[in-house]
Amino acid sequence: MSKVRVRFAPSPTGPLHLGGVRTALYDYLFAKNHGGDFVLRIEDTDTARFVEGAEEYIMEALEWCGIIPDESPKHGGKFAPYRQSERRDIYDRHLVELLKTDYAYIAFDTPEELDEIRNEFEKNGEVFAYNYITRNRLKNSLTLSKEEVEQLKKDNVPYVVRFKMPIDRVLNLEDIIRGNSAVNTNTLDDKVLIKNDGMPTYHFANVVDDHEMEISHVIRGEEWLPSLGLHYLLYEAMGWEKPEFAHLSLILKPEGKGKLSKRDGDKFGFPVFPLDFKDQETGAISKGYRESGYFPEAFLNMVALLGWSPANDRELLTLKEMIQEFDLYKVHKAGARFSKDKAEWFNQEYLKLKSPEEVLIILKELGGDKFQNYSDEKLLKIISLMKERATFVQDIYTQGLFFFRSPTDYEEKAVKKAWNESAAEIISELCAHLDKVEKFEAEDLKNSIHHFAESKSLGMGKVMMPLRLALVGELKGPDVPDILEILGKEVSLARLQNAVNNIS
Ligand code: GLU
Repeated sequence: MSKVRVRFAPSPTGPLHLGGVRTALYDYLFAKNHGGDFVLRIEDTDTARFVEGAEEYIMEALEWCGIIPDESPKHGGKFAPYRQSERRDIYDRHLVELLKTDYAYIAFDTPEELDEIRNEFEKNGEVFAYNYITRNRLKNSLTLSKEEVEQLKKDNVPYVVRFKMPIDRVLNLEDIIRGNSAVNTNTLDDKVLIKNDGMPTYHFANVVDDHEMEISHVIRGEEWLPSLGLHYLLYEAMGWEKPEFAHLSLILKPEGKGKLSKRDGDKFGFPVFPLDFKDQETGAISKGYRESGYFPEAFLNMVALLGWSPANDRELLTLKEMIQEFDLYKVHKAGARFSKDKAEWFNQEYLKLKSPEEVLIILKELGGDKFQNYSDEKLLKIISLMKERATFVQDIYTQGLFFFRSPTDYEEKAVKKAWNESAAEIISELCAHLDKVEKFEAEDLKNSIHHFAESKSLGMGKVMMPLRLALVGELKGPDVPDILEILGKEVSLARLQNAVNNIS
């Protein structure tokens, strides 16, 4: 087999969504698993749908994920340029060849004329297609004489180049993921290959570039499956060997039906984009995984398993392990249901794997000067305690806010449950008792509280609940002795006193 070369070929028409990231990742994993190249090609021939900043976004998103192209507009490479808008001369050259074959023809029908015919068809309850039947009565080089065509061209009448779909041929399409299928060419229309501004459409530019860039495998979204027949025939027309194809199934909504959309993200409160994206026109910001606090490794791991199961149903894999294990033949045919809980689970697992020191760096980056009055030693203790129950690094701060400031008010429900006159008395006495503890450390504190409860013949709940309420302001958080140790004697006792004075 010649060298494996796989390309990711997004159009800069908006931010890369989850599905796009997954395609890029599978492209990358397959290439790297085979010791091949991963190419990023920007397919920007559709100027009407071009979105400012989208290309930069795509590059930044891939970089954040760690999917680094071997060749791209930024990295360069043997087959540069990697932006289709800069490859016009290449398409022009191949167009000349294509027009020499019987596979393409010139059509002069204006958009208005085509609209009119479309309407006529609709009136009769039919759907118009520019195809092997209708092309014989439309304005093109198949129906006009050579002289007429030349004259129209001379008069600068705009024209497009269309693919002349062969009649009644059955194409056997092969797909690595979906297996084989057959399509009759009579069901396919004569797609435009070159627009009236001379720009190639997706189909032509894509096939030319995959050939020119020596792409061995095309792995892309299933929305391109209906184009596969045309692409097969384009390779045939040009006399080129075609690459192998694999079409990835959709990523589905959390409820399992329908394609995951941007709106689902807004509805269920999860990002569908890798990074925040600001729409230049509306100013609206679409939330990204990066800005929501996901680790890139966790995000990538989650994306990888949307449609592929590694051996033994392993779930946590580094990028290196994914490369080793990836098998296109094991990619699922069925759609993959997105789950917010699962996405969060991945982040949680990666957070657990991080050392407190690693988390400290991120926490400080997030918190700015919030933590300047706290020693690293104390912050590391808080991190160790909170890390296991947090999903995101920022949770360590938000769920551990009581470490940084004394409760100013106490949760109503918790007060009802844990506080009354006798609780105030108990806490007051406990305050005096804890004041005598010399080594204010969790183990000693735990024993001391036990002794206190025993000496008063109180159940532990009667002591622990109001104590927690006094320290935290609610009945949540890690073990109370750990909280006491981190807060220190002075702060802890002040909080107890405060509770006695203020909770009524
Ligand atoms: N430009 C196409 C897209 O935006 C590429 C499809 C393909 O990979 O062939 O999805």
